[in-house]
Amino acid sequence: MNEIVVVGASLAGLRACQNLRRANFEGNLTLVGEEKHLPYDRPPLSKTMLSTEQDPGELSLISAPDLAELNLNLILGSPATRLDTEAHEVTVGDETIFYDGLIIATGARARKLSKSNDTGGIHTLRTVEDSLAIRSALQSSSSVIIVGAGFIGSEVAAAALHRGCKVSIIEAGAAPLMRGLGYEVGSACGRLHQSHGVDLRVGVQIRNIYGSHTVEEVELTDGSRIGADLVVVGVGATPNTEWLNDSGLTIDDGLVCDTNLNVGVAGIYAAGDVARVPNQWMGGRPLRTEHWTTATEHAALAAKNLLQPADSTAYDSVPFVWSDQYEDRIQIAGDTNDFDEVSFLMGSAEEGAFVVAYRKGERLAGVMALNSMRPFVQYRRLLMAHGQWNQALDLAQELNG
Ligand SMILES: Cc1cc2nc3c(=O)[nH]c(=O)nc-3n(C[C@H](O)[C@H](O)[C@H](O)COP(=O)(O)OP(=O)(O)OC[C@H]3O[C@@H](n4cnc5c(N)ncnc54)[C@H](O)[C@@H]3O)c2cc1C
Repeated sequence: MNEIVVVGASLAGLRACQNLRRANFEGNLTLVGEEKHLPYDRPPLSKTMLSTEQDPGELSLISAPDLAELNLNLILGSPATRLDTEAHEVTVGDETIFYDGLIIATGARARKLSKSNDTGGIHTLRTVEDSLAIRSALQSSSSVIIVGAGFIGSEVAAAALHRGCKVSIIEAGAAPLMRGLGYEVGSACGRLHQSHGVDLRVGVQIRNIYGSHTVEEVELTDGSRIGADLVVVGVGATPNTEWLNDSGLTIDDGLVCDTNLNVGVAGIYAAGDVARVPNQWMGGRPLRTEHWTTATEHAALAAKNLLQPADSTAYDSVPFVWSDQYEDRIQIAGDTNDFDEVSFLMGSAEEGAFVVAYRKGERLAGVMALNSMRPFVQYRRLLMAHGQWNQALDLAQELNG
């Protein structure tokens, strides 16, 4: 293999390149990115970038000397527009680039509100430009509406409050994060907002947005109206797969892969937010996650399996994600969907610190922790070891003393 192309120059794409070089791939390595920036980290975009005057330069995922050492053919500011799997070619601008091996890491983009119109002052958040635009708007805004009480919306709410804005969150579900964590735990997360004075409205959606040049008022489906000079929409992300539409690859809520991250054509692998992968730890259920840790794990595995296809390894990992809101840290590991039982094992919502466990059958399926980093590590270990529910209860007894 002499020519490897990686499409998508962010976390998964860069980490794939680093892993390829670490595994002694000495051929030509091309990294193609739509954004004009060197790969940068996204989690701070909704956290420190909004709550402080952090310099975007601090978000870089690689230092200049380390980048030089990778010896990449780096094409930035230009998206790949087509993939021809027969000719082994990726089209970028008016150039076609030949590959022996390809890693697709084109991630996802922020979903927009279907009710969005041309009114100014309505933002989504995915890129450093989005974050800078929201930061600048926060400086001159007094009243902010956040649409969606997911992680990104919640983090922006915390930053807006920190900057002295009046903040309302509009959530369509009966509680924040309900789809991922269930009603009880979602409601406990909702308390974080309410305890800081955020106006959290659940079970409602946006009906109309009013304003001549910029947003002035929002009408909700329950008929109520809220004045606002800034709206930030955090209603999920859409995988960037349009450039693959005529490639013959299977697209279904992301680029569909087998458990080795192969997309069904020899020599082509996917990694990160764009990839829908059966995770062995989850019993092989295909899943597209938007988690930082998953993107780095995929990148390492895609690089390894591309270089050693005969010795391919399946993706097998406990999903993990975190979120920082106000002064609080939420951590989630494992599978917290479709559970049989959810139980507070340590602490409580009132104490502002807890560990919640999710049971499926006899198995410990997932754990969510608020401000409980030490016990969380132990529960995550138990999940990695495919621990049973009674082991989770025993651990709680031990930790609770
Ligand atoms: C505001 C924010 C906060 C987050 N906070 C957390 C957190 O606290 N914890 C956590 O676990 N995760 C968090 N995440 C998620 C995490 O950042 C993502 O899981 C991670 O960025 C995924 O990396 P990726 O490389 O797969 O995709 P992306 O980061 O989306 O990168 C894909 C890259 O490919 C480029 N691209 C797209 N199409 C093309 C094309 N056709 N040709 C070339 N390039 C293309 C894109 O422009 C982009 O640069 C956050 C995400 C955001 C947006």
